[in-house]
Amino acid sequence: MKDIRTLNLDQIKDYFGTIGEKPFRAKQVYDWLWSKNMHSFDEMTNLSKDLRENLTRDFFINPISVDLLQKSTDGTIKNGVKLHDGLMVESVLIPTESRSTACVSSQVGCSLNCEFCATAKLKRMRNLEVAEIVDQVALIDRQSKEYFDRPLTNIVFMGMGEPMMNYKNVVEAIHKITKPEGLGMSPRRITVSTSGIPKMIKMLADEEIKVKLALSLHSAIEHKRNDIMPFSEKFPLTDIMDALQYWYQKTGSPITFEYCVWKGINDGDEDIKALIRYCRQVPSKVNLIQYNPIGEGKFDHRSIAAEEKYVRELEKAGITIMVRKSRGGDIDAACGQLANKSAE
Ligand code: SAH
Repeated sequence: MKDIRTLNLDQIKDYFGTIGEKPFRAKQVYDWLWSKNMHSFDEMTNLSKDLRENLTRDFFINPISVDLLQKSTDGTIKNGVKLHDGLMVESVLIPTESRSTACVSSQVGCSLNCEFCATAKLKRMRNLEVAEIVDQVALIDRQSKEYFDRPLTNIVFMGMGEPMMNYKNVVEAIHKITKPEGLGMSPRRITVSTSGIPKMIKMLADEEIKVKLALSLHSAIEHKRNDIMPFSEKFPLTDIMDALQYWYQKTGSPITFEYCVWKGINDGDEDIKALIRYCRQVPSKVNLIQYNPIGEGKFDHRSIAAEEKYVRELEKAGITIMVRKSRGGDIDAACGQLANKSAE
């Protein structure tokens, strides 16, 4: 018995040869699996009964399941998603007037140790499989149709985990999400968010998959960033910039810097100046994310005055800066709050 979704189309064709089926029919199965997101052979209605029986004998399909669905007063829906081995991740549907955005996870837990992030408190348990990433997208697309009467419009890899640390599966999942023989969604509506691993940023630039890139910066002053995001000691800001410039050269797609402002940590004039100097080196914009406290003392205080100053100064410097309102805070669905209670 094998998980059929670990096979590519050619491998399914080969299997069809061994059971005396016409290889072209493999495409039908592939279509059920990756385009229709079907999780049961019995419901693949255009296949013969014999074929369905063969498939059931030789393969299994590991679906994800929703263990807990929570709705925020602002419309945000958080799914506690159960994987086949009982582990959990979280996937969020964020609706606005014109969009439905899926915030998907790439790992169970996270191996990075960003001090301010709830997911970092869980150790990394494993990488998500390709099908587990695609299933989250298909699930949220169905929910968007059910609750908001429209398909999913955007996907952000800003759930649990660091997508660049599960590189291969994330890239393969993006192929399955974007290819016409998969879910057929536009790559330009997908954003991969990373804490900044230069080598992987360059590798993703070389894939030519036309996704957008967001970098979680939080400070453009090296020693401060290392305090906030200790793993980044291995990756100097100059190396990250070098990778971002490479990204822009290769893809022509500007970078989004994600940035939270904390009282007493990065709320000074020198912080703003450093950010301006940093983003000027590559076509980019800044998203100021409203921080969601997770009870980590020193990060619990926003500074609205400092946020306003960031906006004023960056605008003066000609840099686009958007203040992002937090969504789903009442159900722990907001940025950095994803940690699923059962794993705590
Ligand atoms: N590992 C990836 C993606 C997951 S985090 C990355 O670092 O980009 C998605 C975004 O949420 C990142 O920008 C992260 O810095 C931010 N974030 C983490 N904890 C947060 C919190 N408590 N409040 C607001 N944003 C947070």
